[in-house]
Amino acid sequence: MVRTETSTHCPYCALQCGMKLRPVTDGGVVEVVERTEFPVNRGALCGKGRTAPAVLAAGVRLTGPLVRGAGGELAPASWDEALERVADGLRGTRAEHGADAVGVFGGGGLTNEKAYALGKFARVVLGTSQIDYNGRFCMSSAAAAHQRAFGLDRGLPFPLEDIPRTGCVILVGSNLAETMPPALRYLTELRENGGRLIVIDPRRTRTAEQADLHLAPRPGTDLALALGMLHLVVADGRVDEEFVRTRTNGWDEARAGAMAHWPELVERLTGVPVPQLREAVEMFCGAENGMVLTARGPEQQAKGTDTVGAWINFCLATGRAGRPLSGYGCLTGQGNGQGGREHGQKADQLPGYRKLTDPAARRHVAAVWGVDPDTLPGPGRSAYELLDALGQDVRSLLVMGSNPVVSAPHAGHIEERLKSLDFLAVADVVLSETAALADVVLPVTQWAEESGTTTSLEGRVLLRQQAVTPPEGVRSDLEVLNTLAGLLGHGKGFPADPEEVFDELRRASAGGPADYAGITYARIAAEDGVFWPCPDEEHAGTPRLFLERFATDDGRARFVPVTHRAAAEETDAEYPVVLTTGRVVSQYQSGAQTRRVAELNAAAPGPFVELHPRLAERIGVAEGEAVAVTSRRGRAVAPARITVAIRQDTVFMPFHWPGEGRANTLTNPALDPVSRMPEFKVCAVRVEAAG
Ligand code: SF4
Repeated sequence: MVRTETSTHCPYCALQCGMKLRPVTDGGVVEVVERTEFPVNRGALCGKGRTAPAVLAAGVRLTGPLVRGAGGELAPASWDEALERVADGLRGTRAEHGADAVGVFGGGGLTNEKAYALGKFARVVLGTSQIDYNGRFCMSSAAAAHQRAFGLDRGLPFPLEDIPRTGCVILVGSNLAETMPPALRYLTELRENGGRLIVIDPRRTRTAEQADLHLAPRPGTDLALALGMLHLVVADGRVDEEFVRTRTNGWDEARAGAMAHWPELVERLTGVPVPQLREAVEMFCGAENGMVLTARGPEQQAKGTDTVGAWINFCLATGRAGRPLSGYGCLTGQGNGQGGREHGQKADQLPGYRKLTDPAARRHVAAVWGVDPDTLPGPGRSAYELLDALGQDVRSLLVMGSNPVVSAPHAGHIEERLKSLDFLAVADVVLSETAALADVVLPVTQWAEESGTTTSLEGRVLLRQQAVTPPEGVRSDLEVLNTLAGLLGHGKGFPADPEEVFDELRRASAGGPADYAGITYARIAAEDGVFWPCPDEEHAGTPRLFLERFATDDGRARFVPVTHRAAAEETDAEYPVVLTTGRVVSQYQSGAQTRRVAELNAAAPGPFVELHPRLAERIGVAEGEAVAVTSRRGRAVAPARITVAIRQDTVFMPFHWPGEGRANTLTNPALDPVSRMPEFKVCAVRVEAAG
């Protein structure tokens, strides 16, 4: 056997660490080998990446289609039978209830090619506007705030390699040590170079422990905190007047909003003492340059867009944007969260980050697709609204690469909505909790078994290369869409070859905000990725955005006036504690893959409730004893994990598990009015001993 190594990327988070896969047997078993030459992670991987090949094994993953029989059980079926059943289900709903009664739900883990093909399938074959994806739950507030302020959304407008060379980083609501461990080195190097690190998080996480200064605001008050810090910037005369005058619009209104949030008020709202606010402002403004990086903490709120907007205002007022080694960035979470939102599986977007409501964008994409622009549907519902409409306006659903039974807010309700559908088809690698509810389960290939591109949190387009032959009985998502399109009367336009799809995506994105026209598979492989926009094959790509001008019509960034408001659900006598949710290092998102890996389960076997010793004492719970957490939407039970690293008024639960300890049973689906992001990060709960 020739043991050749294949360069590829991890299947999980948006850091998209480089790795090599080396065959271990002739039977398709591979092991992970360090790929030290890939600059982002230089060979480092977290446990999820190291163990990713475990999910390739038969017995862990699906290896044949399943169809629900008359007796109500899922049973093995042929591909012909399964796909005919899906086509019948979707066709029947469309005939009886109209095109918009058919929904499509995609995922932030799908490659660019799959996200593109899925959006095209929904709009051209099904003719439905009802498509969205779980990435809406991940980064939509930062994306909306980016668009509003800069006219363009790319998670990081600069490469990660710039972070160690800036003067000060404010990290808001991100626990990199658990979510992207190899990225922690950028913060370590920052401090080794003399830079300062400020972490804002209600919990004293492993990331917060690395900081020069840790601020622990009450969950849901990040907006007030940002406004209070901007107030101090103004009051202390630290505004970069030259930058504001020459590179921005709208400062007067934003300034007025900040001046209404004087420090003592902000201390009352957030619990962060005024001296700490002052120290943070002095640390940030005292450095020559600086960055603010946000993640899900401030973003997953019913005011997430305004909260991110407040941090962008802070960057603009201090002149920390649109300059080398300065700027605002969002640490996107899902593996292809960035690319997934650029190429058409979002309810309001066409490929290339074009708007579905823009007539010129519709004409351009329709010409690439060979259809009349007037046949393209308009924008549909956002992810939670789509799931909430299941069984009512939306009667049939095709899910690709998503597990909303675990990952959606108010998950018990969404589970019931999924059960009320006339027809549900799920394409996935494993029998996830959502797939287990389906009428038809389509087993699909995964990362190492297929080629395709992803776009990392840096906006770097990467190539995952096929390293192993998939098991018999499994097909790629692109093959599934190809066959379904044919069965539904569209024999052309849905190639199953990823590179062919990518070449079409390049044409569809050409001239759009996320322009991939100059990016090819060969270039990506040769150059360790290419940063978009890249409008032609001679173009070097764009690692750093906005240095000359922002992507607005006049080239100036826009301040957006924002003001603090309470969380959608405040604590009260009945629900006196705040619940916030997040991730642990050894599990990923809904856990559909990682909960099937023995090594990861040994490290993180199940859910827990993290709470402060004083709260534990008050409710009479000791370490490891069962705690019941109840919100207005349901009840979850998990063992206590007692630590002084959390505020006394807050409990934390990781959201990777189904069943009794499912954190999303409790979470609040209140939506941000701009991004339609649900408020995962804050809801009111009651906490009791479950004994
Ligand atoms: Fe994979 Fe993310 Fe871990 Fe890197 S940090 S190995 S991309 S899960």
